[in-house]
Amino acid sequence: MPRPGVVIDRDYLKHDPGPFHPERPERLKILLDLAGELDIEGFQLLPPRPAAREEIETCHSSDYIALVQATSKVNRYALDGDTVTSRDSFGVGLLAVGGFLRLLDAIACGDLDNGFALVRPPGHHALKDRGMGFCLFNTAAIGARYVKRRYGAKKIFIIDWDVHHGNGTQAAFYHDSSVLYMSTHQYPYYPGTGAIDEVGEGAGEGFTVNVPLPPGCGDGEYLRLFKEIVLPIGSKYRPDWILVSAGFDPHQRDPLGGMNVTERGFATMAATLLELAAEHASGKIAFLLEGGYDLAALKSSVAGVLEQMRAGGNGDAPADDGGEFIEPLIRKVLRVQEPYW
Ligand SMILES: [Zn+2]
Repeated sequence: MPRPGVVIDRDYLKHDPGPFHPERPERLKILLDLAGELDIEGFQLLPPRPAAREEIETCHSSDYIALVQATSKVNRYALDGDTVTSRDSFGVGLLAVGGFLRLLDAIACGDLDNGFALVRPPGHHALKDRGMGFCLFNTAAIGARYVKRRYGAKKIFIIDWDVHHGNGTQAAFYHDSSVLYMSTHQYPYYPGTGAIDEVGEGAGEGFTVNVPLPPGCGDGEYLRLFKEIVLPIGSKYRPDWILVSAGFDPHQRDPLGGMNVTERGFATMAATLLELAAEHASGKIAFLLEGGYDLAALKSSVAGVLEQMRAGGNGDAPADDGGEFIEPLIRKVLRVQEPYW
Protein backbone atom coordinates (compact mmCIF):
# COMPACT_ATOMS: atom_id res chain seq x y z
CA MET A 1 0.00 0.00 0.00
CA PRO A 2 1.32 3.51 -0.78
CA ARG A 3 2.36 5.78 2.05
CA PRO A 4 0.52 9.05 1.45
CA GLY A 5 1.20 12.30 3.25
CA VAL A 6 -0.63 15.55 3.87
CA VAL A 7 0.80 18.97 4.64
CA ILE A 8 -1.56 21.21 6.56
CA ASP A 9 -1.26 23.69 9.42
CA ARG A 10 -3.39 26.07 11.45
CA ASP A 11 -1.08 28.94 10.48
CA TYR A 12 -2.57 28.84 6.97
CA LEU A 13 -5.68 30.42 8.51
CA LYS A 14 -3.78 33.64 9.24
CA HIS A 15 -3.81 35.02 5.69
CA ASP A 16 -6.98 37.10 5.65
CA PRO A 17 -7.90 38.94 2.44
CA GLY A 18 -10.93 40.47 4.16
CA PRO A 19 -14.63 39.82 4.68
CA PHE A 20 -16.62 38.41 1.74
CA HIS A 21 -13.44 37.32 -0.09
CA PRO A 22 -13.92 33.87 -1.67
CA GLU A 23 -10.37 32.76 -0.80
CA ARG A 24 -11.12 32.82 2.92
CA PRO A 25 -9.52 31.11 5.91
CA GLU A 26 -12.59 28.86 6.29
CA ARG A 27 -11.39 26.93 3.24
CA LEU A 28 -8.48 25.63 5.28
CA LYS A 29 -10.50 25.28 8.46
CA ILE A 30 -12.74 22.71 6.80
CA LEU A 31 -9.69 20.82 5.51
CA LEU A 32 -8.16 20.82 9.00
CA ASP A 33 -11.34 19.05 10.13
CA LEU A 34 -10.83 16.56 7.32
CA ALA A 35 -7.18 16.04 8.27
CA GLY A 36 -8.27 15.38 11.86
CA GLU A 37 -10.59 12.68 10.61
CA LEU A 38 -7.81 11.19 8.45
CA ASP A 39 -5.21 11.10 11.20
CA ILE A 40 -6.36 7.72 12.40
CA GLU A 41 -6.38 6.26 8.92
CA GLY A 42 -2.73 6.10 8.08
CA PHE A 43 -1.93 9.44 6.49
CA GLN A 44 1.31 10.98 7.63
CA LEU A 45 0.70 14.61 8.57
CA LEU A 46 3.69 16.82 7.82
CA PRO A 47 4.13 20.25 9.39
CA PRO A 48 5.21 22.92 6.88
CA ARG A 49 8.34 25.07 7.02
CA PRO A 50 8.65 28.60 5.68
CA ALA A 51 10.34 28.79 2.29
CA ALA A 52 13.70 30.55 2.24
CA ARG A 53 13.98 33.79 0.29
CA GLU A 54 16.40 32.12 -2.18
CA GLU A 55 13.75 29.50 -2.89
CA ILE A 56 11.13 32.17 -3.66
CA GLU A 57 13.70 33.99 -5.79
CA THR A 58 13.88 31.05 -8.19
CA CYS A 59 10.56 32.33 -9.59
CA HIS A 60 10.06 35.88 -8.32
CA SER A 61 12.02 39.12 -8.49
CA SER A 62 13.60 40.58 -5.36
CA ASP A 63 11.57 43.76 -5.79
CA TYR A 64 8.30 41.85 -5.84
CA ILE A 65 9.27 39.76 -2.79
CA ALA A 66 10.19 42.98 -0.95
CA LEU A 67 6.81 44.47 -1.90
CA VAL A 68 4.91 41.49 -0.46
CA GLN A 69 7.10 41.58 2.64
CA ALA A 70 6.35 45.29 3.12
CA THR A 71 2.60 44.57 3.15
CA SER A 72 3.03 43.05 6.62
CA LYS A 73 3.27 46.61 7.97
CA VAL A 74 -0.36 47.38 7.13
CA ASN A 75 -3.68 45.74 7.96
CA ARG A 76 -4.71 45.41 4.32
CA TYR A 77 -2.89 45.98 1.05
CA ALA A 78 -4.35 45.33 -2.40
CA LEU A 79 -1.75 43.91 -4.80
CA ASP A 80 -4.54 44.06 -7.37
CA GLY A 81 -8.32 44.26 -7.32
CA ASP A 82 -8.78 40.78 -5.88
CA THR A 83 -5.39 39.94 -4.37
CA VAL A 84 -5.39 41.43 -0.90
CA THR A 85 -2.94 40.85 1.93
CA SER A 86 -3.17 41.14 5.70
CA ARG A 87 -0.30 41.53 8.18
CA ASP A 88 0.44 37.79 8.24
CA SER A 89 0.12 37.15 4.50
CA PHE A 90 3.81 37.33 3.65
CA GLY A 91 4.64 34.76 6.33
CA VAL A 92 1.74 32.53 5.29
CA GLY A 93 2.85 32.84 1.65
CA LEU A 94 6.31 31.58 2.60
CA LEU A 95 4.69 28.77 4.58
CA ALA A 96 2.52 27.75 1.62
CA VAL A 97 5.56 27.38 -0.63
CA GLY A 98 7.66 25.78 2.12
CA GLY A 99 4.89 23.31 2.90
CA PHE A 100 4.95 22.11 -0.68
CA LEU A 101 8.75 21.89 -0.69
CA ARG A 102 8.64 19.89 2.53
CA LEU A 103 6.27 17.45 0.85
CA LEU A 104 8.54 17.17 -2.20
CA ASP A 105 11.49 16.39 0.11
CA ALA A 106 9.50 13.63 1.85
CA ILE A 107 8.57 12.07 -1.50
CA ALA A 108 12.07 12.45 -2.96
CA CYS A 109 13.75 10.71 -0.05
CA GLY A 110 11.18 7.91 -0.01
CA ASP A 111 9.51 8.69 3.33
CA LEU A 112 6.26 9.11 1.43
CA ASP A 113 5.02 7.72 -1.88
CA ASN A 114 2.73 10.62 -2.69
CA GLY A 115 1.16 13.57 -0.96
CA PHE A 116 -1.17 16.53 -0.93
CA ALA A 117 -0.15 20.02 0.23
CA LEU A 118 -3.33 21.55 1.61
CA VAL A 119 -2.06 25.10 1.72
CA ARG A 120 -3.21 28.62 0.99
CA PRO A 121 -3.01 31.16 -0.55
CA PRO A 122 -3.05 29.51 -3.99
CA GLY A 123 -0.23 30.19 -6.43
CA HIS A 124 -0.77 29.44 -10.12
CA HIS A 125 -1.65 33.00 -11.20
CA ALA A 126 1.40 34.60 -9.54
CA LEU A 127 3.86 36.04 -12.06
CA LYS A 128 7.54 36.84 -11.57
CA ASP A 129 6.85 40.48 -10.70
CA ARG A 130 3.23 40.43 -9.73
CA GLY A 131 0.66 38.76 -7.51
CA MET A 132 -2.80 38.30 -8.98
CA GLY A 133 -5.91 36.14 -8.81
CA PHE A 134 -5.65 35.58 -5.01
CA CYS A 135 -2.06 34.29 -5.51
CA LEU A 136 1.11 35.68 -3.89
CA PHE A 137 3.89 33.23 -4.80
CA ASN A 138 3.79 30.54 -7.47
CA THR A 139 4.09 27.42 -5.36
CA ALA A 140 3.88 24.90 -8.23
CA ALA A 141 6.54 26.70 -10.28
CA ILE A 142 8.88 27.06 -7.30
CA GLY A 143 8.32 23.37 -6.53
CA ALA A 144 9.29 22.37 -10.07
CA ARG A 145 12.49 24.41 -9.91
CA TYR A 146 13.20 22.92 -6.48
CA VAL A 147 13.08 19.28 -7.61
CA LYS A 148 15.21 20.21 -10.62
CA ARG A 149 17.92 21.87 -8.55
CA ARG A 150 17.85 19.71 -5.47
CA TYR A 151 17.05 16.29 -6.89
CA GLY A 152 18.23 16.61 -10.48
CA ALA A 153 14.77 16.10 -11.98
CA LYS A 154 14.93 16.41 -15.74
CA LYS A 155 11.31 16.13 -16.80
CA ILE A 156 8.55 17.57 -14.66
CA PHE A 157 4.92 17.34 -15.65
CA ILE A 158 2.71 20.04 -14.11
CA ILE A 159 -0.95 19.32 -14.69
CA ASP A 160 -3.31 22.12 -13.66
CA TRP A 161 -7.00 21.21 -13.44
CA ASP A 162 -8.12 24.42 -11.68
CA VAL A 163 -11.03 26.03 -13.57
CA HIS A 164 -8.82 29.07 -14.24
CA HIS A 165 -5.78 29.03 -16.49
CA GLY A 166 -2.50 29.02 -14.55
CA ASN A 167 -0.97 31.95 -16.40
CA GLY A 168 1.85 32.36 -13.88
CA THR A 169 2.99 28.76 -14.12
CA GLN A 170 2.74 28.80 -17.90
CA ALA A 171 4.84 31.99 -18.05
CA ALA A 172 7.52 30.52 -15.76
CA PHE A 173 8.20 27.64 -18.16
CA TYR A 174 7.09 28.99 -21.54
CA HIS A 175 10.66 28.80 -22.89
CA ASP A 176 11.69 25.73 -20.91
CA SER A 177 11.60 22.13 -22.18
CA SER A 178 12.30 20.62 -18.76
CA VAL A 179 8.76 21.31 -17.57
CA LEU A 180 5.64 20.25 -19.45
CA TYR A 181 2.79 22.52 -18.36
CA MET A 182 -0.69 21.30 -19.18
CA SER A 183 -3.88 23.11 -18.19
CA THR A 184 -7.57 22.30 -18.51
CA HIS A 185 -9.62 25.43 -17.87
CA GLN A 186 -12.78 27.33 -18.67
CA TYR A 187 -12.18 29.64 -21.62
CA PRO A 188 -12.56 32.48 -22.26
CA TYR A 189 -12.47 33.29 -18.58
CA TYR A 190 -10.18 34.79 -15.95
CA PRO A 191 -7.25 35.48 -16.45
CA GLY A 192 -7.74 35.47 -20.25
CA THR A 193 -4.72 33.37 -21.20
CA GLY A 194 -4.63 29.68 -22.11
CA ALA A 195 -5.69 29.69 -25.77
CA ILE A 196 -5.26 26.45 -27.69
CA ASP A 197 -2.35 27.83 -29.73
CA GLU A 198 -0.26 28.89 -26.72
CA VAL A 199 2.20 26.00 -26.99
CA GLY A 200 5.46 27.45 -25.66
CA GLU A 201 8.25 29.27 -27.47
CA GLY A 202 11.88 28.66 -28.37
CA ALA A 203 13.26 25.68 -26.48
CA GLY A 204 9.90 25.42 -24.74
CA GLU A 205 7.85 25.07 -27.93
CA GLY A 206 5.60 22.04 -27.56
CA PHE A 207 5.97 21.92 -23.77
CA THR A 208 2.81 23.90 -23.02
CA VAL A 209 -0.51 22.20 -23.65
CA ASN A 210 -3.70 24.21 -23.23
CA VAL A 211 -7.14 22.64 -23.22
CA PRO A 212 -9.55 25.60 -23.17
CA LEU A 213 -13.02 24.32 -22.32
CA PRO A 214 -16.53 25.69 -22.74
CA PRO A 215 -18.54 26.04 -19.52
CA GLY A 216 -20.70 23.10 -18.52
CA CYS A 217 -18.09 20.34 -18.75
CA GLY A 218 -18.67 17.57 -16.21
CA ASP A 219 -17.16 14.24 -15.21
CA GLY A 220 -17.72 12.68 -18.64
CA GLU A 221 -15.93 15.48 -20.48
CA TYR A 222 -13.00 15.61 -18.07
CA LEU A 223 -12.62 11.83 -18.07
CA ARG A 224 -12.60 11.82 -21.85
CA LEU A 225 -9.98 14.53 -22.16
CA PHE A 226 -7.84 12.90 -19.47
CA LYS A 227 -7.95 9.66 -21.48
CA GLU A 228 -7.39 11.26 -24.87
CA ILE A 229 -5.01 14.13 -24.09
CA VAL A 230 -3.53 14.07 -20.59
CA LEU A 231 -2.63 10.39 -20.46
CA PRO A 232 -1.27 9.95 -24.01
CA ILE A 233 0.85 13.12 -23.96
CA GLY A 234 1.92 12.50 -20.35
CA SER A 235 2.97 8.93 -21.29
CA LYS A 236 4.99 10.13 -24.27
CA TYR A 237 6.70 12.76 -22.11
CA ARG A 238 7.62 10.11 -19.50
CA PRO A 239 7.98 12.55 -16.58
CA ASP A 240 10.18 11.83 -13.59
CA TRP A 241 7.92 13.94 -11.38
CA ILE A 242 4.23 14.89 -11.56
CA LEU A 243 3.00 18.03 -9.80
CA VAL A 244 -0.73 18.67 -9.76
CA SER A 245 -2.19 22.15 -9.41
CA ALA A 246 -5.42 20.82 -7.97
CA GLY A 247 -8.11 23.47 -7.94
CA PHE A 248 -11.61 22.33 -7.04
CA ASP A 249 -13.40 25.25 -8.65
CA PRO A 250 -14.53 23.11 -11.63
CA HIS A 251 -16.95 21.54 -9.08
CA GLN A 252 -20.61 21.85 -10.03
CA ARG A 253 -21.40 23.77 -6.82
CA ASP A 254 -18.45 26.18 -7.02
CA PRO A 255 -19.55 29.84 -7.01
CA LEU A 256 -16.73 31.03 -9.32
CA GLY A 257 -16.52 28.27 -11.95
CA GLY A 258 -19.06 27.27 -14.57
CA MET A 259 -18.24 23.56 -14.72
CA ASN A 260 -20.11 20.45 -13.62
CA VAL A 261 -17.44 18.20 -12.11
CA THR A 262 -18.35 16.09 -9.05
CA GLU A 263 -16.27 14.48 -6.32
CA ARG A 264 -16.15 11.29 -8.41
CA GLY A 265 -14.76 13.22 -11.35
CA PHE A 266 -11.88 14.66 -9.33
CA ALA A 267 -11.16 11.24 -7.84
CA THR A 268 -11.00 9.72 -11.32
CA MET A 269 -8.67 12.47 -12.54
CA ALA A 270 -6.42 11.83 -9.53
CA ALA A 271 -6.50 8.07 -10.15
CA THR A 272 -5.44 8.61 -13.77
CA LEU A 273 -2.47 10.73 -12.68
CA LEU A 274 -1.48 8.29 -9.92
CA GLU A 275 -1.33 5.55 -12.54
CA LEU A 276 0.75 7.74 -14.83
CA ALA A 277 3.12 8.46 -11.92
CA ALA A 278 3.41 4.76 -11.09
CA GLU A 279 4.26 3.98 -14.71
CA HIS A 280 6.82 6.70 -15.39
CA ALA A 281 7.82 8.61 -12.27
CA SER A 282 8.37 5.81 -9.72
CA GLY A 283 5.09 6.96 -8.24
CA LYS A 284 6.38 10.46 -7.46
CA ILE A 285 3.33 12.71 -7.52
CA ALA A 286 2.50 15.70 -5.36
CA PHE A 287 -0.89 17.41 -5.31
CA LEU A 288 -1.13 21.08 -4.42
CA LEU A 289 -4.31 22.94 -3.48
CA GLU A 290 -5.14 25.88 -5.76
CA GLY A 291 -8.76 27.14 -5.96
CA GLY A 292 -12.10 25.73 -4.80
CA TYR A 293 -14.59 28.01 -3.08
CA ASP A 294 -17.61 25.94 -2.04
CA LEU A 295 -16.60 24.66 1.39
CA ALA A 296 -18.54 21.39 1.41
CA ALA A 297 -17.58 20.61 -2.19
CA LEU A 298 -13.94 21.36 -1.41
CA LYS A 299 -13.91 19.04 1.59
CA SER A 300 -15.59 16.10 -0.13
CA SER A 301 -13.53 16.51 -3.31
CA VAL A 302 -10.22 16.61 -1.43
CA ALA A 303 -11.37 13.54 0.54
CA GLY A 304 -11.97 11.71 -2.75
CA VAL A 305 -8.48 12.53 -4.04
CA LEU A 306 -6.91 11.45 -0.73
CA GLU A 307 -8.76 8.15 -0.96
CA GLN A 308 -7.22 7.56 -4.39
CA MET A 309 -3.76 8.47 -3.09
CA ARG A 310 -4.09 5.88 -0.36
CA ALA A 311 -5.27 3.25 -2.84
CA GLY A 312 -2.54 4.13 -5.35
CA GLY A 313 -5.11 5.06 -7.97
CA ASN A 314 -6.85 1.70 -7.82
CA GLY A 315 -9.76 2.92 -5.75
CA ASP A 316 -13.31 2.67 -6.93
CA ALA A 317 -13.91 5.93 -8.74
CA PRO A 318 -15.78 5.43 -11.98
CA ALA A 319 -16.94 8.64 -13.59
CA ASP A 320 -19.86 8.94 -15.94
CA ASP A 321 -19.42 7.98 -19.54
CA GLY A 322 -20.21 10.49 -22.22
CA GLY A 323 -18.53 13.77 -22.91
CA GLU A 324 -18.99 13.44 -26.68
CA PHE A 325 -19.70 17.14 -27.05
CA ILE A 326 -16.07 18.08 -26.45
CA GLU A 327 -14.76 15.52 -28.94
CA PRO A 328 -14.22 18.20 -31.66
CA LEU A 329 -12.23 20.29 -29.16
CA ILE A 330 -10.11 17.29 -28.20
CA ARG A 331 -9.36 16.65 -31.89
CA LYS A 332 -8.39 20.30 -32.28
CA VAL A 333 -6.01 20.22 -29.30
CA LEU A 334 -4.41 17.01 -30.60
CA ARG A 335 -4.03 18.58 -34.06
CA VAL A 336 -2.29 21.65 -32.60
CA GLN A 337 -0.03 19.41 -30.51
CA GLU A 338 0.61 16.86 -33.27
CA PRO A 339 4.00 18.29 -34.32
CA TYR A 340 5.28 17.75 -30.80
CA TRP A 341 3.51 14.63 -29.52
ZN1 LIG B 1 -9.24 28.84 -9.87
